Parts: sequence; C-alpha cells; structure tokens
Amino acid sequence: MVDTKAFSHVMNTYGRLPVEFDSGKGVWLIDTDGNRYMDLISGLGVVSLGHADPGIASVVADQMNKLVHTSNLFYTRPMGELAAKLSSISLGGKVFFSNSGAESVEAALKLAKKHGSTNMDGASRIVALDGSFHGRTLGALSATGQPDKWAGFEPLLPNVTHVPINDHASFDAAFGPDVCGVIVEVIQGEGGVIPSSPEWLAHLRKACDSTGALLIFDEVQTGIGRTGKWFAYQNHEVTPDAITVAKALANGLPIGALVATPGHSDILGPGTHASTFGGGPVVCSAALEVLNRIESEGLLARVAEASARFIQGLDRVAGASGGSVVGVRGKGLMLAVELSQDIAPKVAQKCFDDFLLVNAVRPDAIRILPPLVISDNEIDKAVETLAGAIDVVRKGE
Ligand SMILES: *Cc1c(COP(=O)(O)O)cnc(C)c1O
Repeated sequence: MVDTKAFSHVMNTYGRLPVEFDSGKGVWLIDTDGNRYMDLISGLGVVSLGHADPGIASVVADQMNKLVHTSNLFYTRPMGELAAKLSSISLGGKVFFSNSGAESVEAALKLAKKHGSTNMDGASRIVALDGSFHGRTLGALSATGQPDKWAGFEPLLPNVTHVPINDHASFDAAFGPDVCGVIVEVIQGEGGVIPSSPEWLAHLRKACDSTGALLIFDEVQTGIGRTGKWFAYQNHEVTPDAITVAKALANGLPIGALVATPGHSDILGPGTHASTFGGGPVVCSAALEVLNRIESEGLLARVAEASARFIQGLDRVAGASGGSVVGVRGKGLMLAVELSQDIAPKVAQKCFDDFLLVNAVRPDAIRILPPLVISDNEIDKAVETLAGAIDVVRKGE
C-alpha cells in the first residue's frame, strides 16, 4: 500500500496508480511490499536497457566521481563524443543538447523560426498534426494537437496550424510559403500509436523541399532503437531536416537532443539558444553507454525479433478473443493492441492487478512499450497475462 500522506506536498498533476516502486531489475519493478511487476511501459519508453542497469550505473558513478557539471561556458569531452555518435547514426550534422523531450521540441521550433526569419523572408508559421504530442511546455504544447491539453493555457503560440495525419489534401490547404517548419511524429505515440504512412512522409518532404521549410521529425518516443532502427524515419525513404530525441537516450537520466542535417546545423548561432544543464558530462556519458550497448548487444536486430514474437502472440490472442481484439498496430517494440470496445482502461487495470504494467493509450487501445531487452519468455508471459485480462474484462461487460 502507498502511504499517500508522504506525497501530500507533491503537486497533483498526475493521476498516479496506487503503487510505490522501490527498486527494479531488467523488465521488472519491485514495490515497497515486495511485489514484482513486469513493466511494459518502460517509464514511458525510457528505460530501454531495463531498470537499474549496472553498466550504466557504473559509467555514471565514474563520471560523478570525476566531474559533474561545468555549464556550457566550457568544453567537456562526453558532450563532443555523444554529439558525434548521435550525428553518425542519424542526420550527419550538429546537435543541441537539452534536458527533456519538450525542451528538444522547443529547440526544434526555435530552429524553424530562426530559419524562417533568416532564410525564408520572415516565414513563421508551424504546421503540426491533430492528435500529436510534443510536450507540455508552452511552445511544445502549442504544437501538440490535443485541444483538451490547451484548456486554461490559451492563448498559446500564434501561427501554428494543425492538420489530420495522413491527409494530403488538408495538408496542402494549410501549407504555404509562410510556413517555416512542419513537425510530425513518424508514429504518434501519446496520440495512440498511430503510424504515418510512407506516402504521407514523402508528401511532406516534397512540400518542404518546394519552399525550403524545415521538416522536423519528433523522434522523442520512436528514436534510439524503439522501432528496430536507430530512428523511425530510417524505416522509410524520407530524411527530415532535423530530429528531436529524448526519452530512451540516457536510459532514465534526463537528456534531450536536437540533431540537424549539415545544411541546417548553423542556423542557431552563439546566443540564440541555451541550457544550463544541457549536454552535461554525466548524462552524456550515460547516453554514450546506451548507444554503445545497443550496438554491442545487437539490440536493433533483437527489437525486430521480439516484435515479431509479440505480434504473433497477440494475433493468437486476437483469434481467440471473440472479436474483442481487432489487431495490432505499430512497429518494433512500440505497439498497440486494438480493441473493438472502449475497454482499454479496464484491461490495463486488470493487468495491473495481475502485476503487468501496460498503458491504455486510448479508450480502445493498449500500448506496449517494453524495455528493448525483454526476453522471449517474458514476452510469452506478458501476452498470456494480457490475454487473460482481456478475457476477464470481455466476459464482465
Ligand atoms: C514524451 C514526448 C515528448 C515530451 O517529452 P518530455 O520529456 O516529457 O518533455 C515530446 N514528444 C514526443 C513524441 C513524446 O513522446
């Protein structure tokens, strides 16, 4: 049980589940009563190498004992090495470091705005998508296409237009020479695991090429191997002008990054953007270790394998569900189980009661976002528990 009094001074911005976690190991979280939960949420797509990874802990401890913080008035080597590595696995240009997903989106919006004012005759409009999620700071919230999250905070950033995903005609109507940037998720995460179609991404690329507007992919959730490639755009033929990265980059330590192509790497010059903590040696060492481990453990290939096993298992569940499970969408280890009715919150609750953590990302969809290191046995067990939960909820309806 949670002693909620111990949390009475925490601002009440989250509807938290009644559990207090005390430790973790791999895909497992252990609560203060000693219960073990299998975690298919990964701290919202963050702990890809699993909880309390000893390799990351030792790299962080070494760096903590050596140097923790200097600010960006000076050079520290882990930042340079991480930037080079991030660049080499993505767009080949330069990197700006921040501390979160929302902050990397803020940097991307400023990149687009500065590009518009410098290179596009003052173009300042941003096109973003309905149902998108880019974070909760005011700029990122303005790009986020979920009006219920705007309530109480308007007016937001002006000159942001939202269009439906995968809808060429609506986009064409909204797009023009006054647009400095288009920001999209390759697969919408918080919006419900909704994939962009390849034709749509190509359409956006063509439009941006025709005016010089920046095409920005928000890879905060889809990046760092989640879909079986370093970045989700690499599953497609389309290359963006910049990407935002955060969540899994340092396996739980706060870090964000904006990576640009070489041609867009010098738009933000000295004095145009800043972060006191951004690019610090501790988080950058952790992130370098994450990227090296994904490589040395062959995790990108493993994600594809694990994904296939999940999808096979879930397809079997669908077949036996009497129509309750419609299918599975998503890519790699970013999946959603599609339900025929709005029973996802009940299914997630039943899973929780059975010590399996999943997330009802929509009323009719269960999101599966496990650590990338999940084993075959763990996948089978997760599918079995989920199937049982769906069955119980379905029969209770
Ligand atoms: C989570 C998320 C963000 C916001 O990241 P924070 O670290 O919570 O600020 C932005 N974009 C996408 C696509 C996300 O999934």
